[in-house]
Amino acid sequence: MLSTIEAEHEEGVMSDTAREGVISERACEGLMMDDFPLSLRAVIERAETLSFRRPVVFRRPDGSIHRTTLGECAARARRLAAGLAALGIGAGERVATMLWNQPEHLEAYLAIPPMGAVIHTLNPRLHTDELSFIAADAADRAIIVDETLLDVFEALRAEWQFEHVIVVSHSGSAPDAALEYESLTSAHEPMDWPEIGERRAAAMCYTSGTTGRPKGVLYSHRSVVLHSLVTALPDTMGVSTHDVILPVVPMFHANAWGLPYAAAFAGAALVLPGPRLDAESVLDLLAGERVTVTAGVPTVWMSVLQAIEEQPDRWDLSALKRMIVGGSAVPRSLLEGFDRHGLTILQAWGMTETSPLGSMCRVPPELDSASTEDRYDFRARQGIAVPFIELRARGDDGELIPWNDQAMGELEVRGPWVAAGYHGGAGQEKFTDDGWFQTGDVVRIDEHGCIRITDRAKDLVKSGGEWISSVDLENLLMAHPAVAEAAVIAIPDERWGERPLAAIVLREGQEASPDDLRQHLTGQFAKWQIPERIEFIEEIPRTATGKFKKTELRERFVQAVAR
Ligand code: AMP
Repeated sequence: MLSTIEAEHEEGVMSDTAREGVISERACEGLMMDDFPLSLRAVIERAETLSFRRPVVFRRPDGSIHRTTLGECAARARRLAAGLAALGIGAGERVATMLWNQPEHLEAYLAIPPMGAVIHTLNPRLHTDELSFIAADAADRAIIVDETLLDVFEALRAEWQFEHVIVVSHSGSAPDAALEYESLTSAHEPMDWPEIGERRAAAMCYTSGTTGRPKGVLYSHRSVVLHSLVTALPDTMGVSTHDVILPVVPMFHANAWGLPYAAAFAGAALVLPGPRLDAESVLDLLAGERVTVTAGVPTVWMSVLQAIEEQPDRWDLSALKRMIVGGSAVPRSLLEGFDRHGLTILQAWGMTETSPLGSMCRVPPELDSASTEDRYDFRARQGIAVPFIELRARGDDGELIPWNDQAMGELEVRGPWVAAGYHGGAGQEKFTDDGWFQTGDVVRIDEHGCIRITDRAKDLVKSGGEWISSVDLENLLMAHPAVAEAAVIAIPDERWGERPLAAIVLREGQEASPDDLRQHLTGQFAKWQIPERIEFIEEIPRTATGKFKKTELRERFVQAVAR
């Protein structure tokens, strides 16, 4: 079993350090227990002692619904921690998860950080190359994988050797050389948590790179605790012990936007939907469990809205107070569509690097008497910084832009749950000398401090909440013998938010069909990342410095799509 965690192990890379201007003379200090650590141990202990009766409902891959409690999950977390420690998992070491939103994932959330290790959530939708890079970069020692994801895992295992493989089995057996989750947890006595400093790393998530490889963000105990507290505030996501929360956003996406920890802290009930996220399955759970708060990317809610419109009387959603939607821009039509059914969407903006919550779009009291039109205009924006988060934007001329809703600039952010660097020191250019993180989102800011994303400085396509690197697609397309040049842009898509479109210039005298090029991409990109639209053009417009002028391509093809 782990004892006190030594200080030399890696710390979370967050903006934890005190800011300038803090008065340090002893004589001026307050007289409080300031050394009490803001550690996730407090979250799990609260769940064990005060919120243990709260339900955790989950749906298995076969569709069956089961019930447990927060207390039971916390108790099993202590056994899981003891099991992992018996395997030799020590302080600061990463334990990967490849799991859905399921109780074992919640148990891993509650077990791994308090034992002093780091939970590293892997996204099973990524291509094997990316996953194996990520697992190797994080030096994951062990992995907990759901039986339904074993095919993804097998491909990954060929590239990266985990020392320990723990399988959550629904059939009761694990493949050779793997441990079965239930056997591991039941074989051990609950762990007594060690003392852990609040700046120690607790969790890890990778973010897609515009160019180059994905980069690891290491959350600290302190950053997760503060993020959970602010997430739960009434004007942010508003999580109370009276809530029943269904995170549709996967627990491998920026910790499901912090909701599992916020729910455990507040003592809210949780509904974990497992892998079935089609509209009917989501609606069945929302109605059947009388969910009050839910969260996910716009794509999910578009199909949910369509299902409601088709069968308006089928689901009783009268308990649902709000739907937190973010990860991609929320179209105004989605806000209006749910309003017609008495359901309220709140838009949130954030990033893996911001834990993820950065801003929430709550209409301020100043706009209480604004017209319906103006209120929709406001709600379709990305929102106002949540407490402790500071936002600003810098224009092309390098100056900070005024908050006049006209000027545009790249959004910068800082705060106690914003990354101060990436694991291994990659991507340092995104962090300014005066302690801000450059987001790559281009925004306008209005007089309320509300941001509106107008463009993206980073060369990425976001489809259904998942990233596709334009640059990686272009590089592989240009490696095709018939292709002289390739530029990939994002085009709006009603269902997925964005889809990639590849504009191709063929070499003289060469031929290739769209299918040939798609075939060429297969194998190195996941199927959903391959562009449906491949357009052959004479030349790719360029800027004065010779770069691809993607704005012009976007104008040309986005208008063509609209027509
Ligand atoms: P990720 O790190 O994968 O969570 O992606 C973060 C990025 O998603 C942001 O930098 C934005 O480009 C985009 N994003 C997140 N929320 C929103 C939103 N509400 N509207 C538009 N884009 C968003």
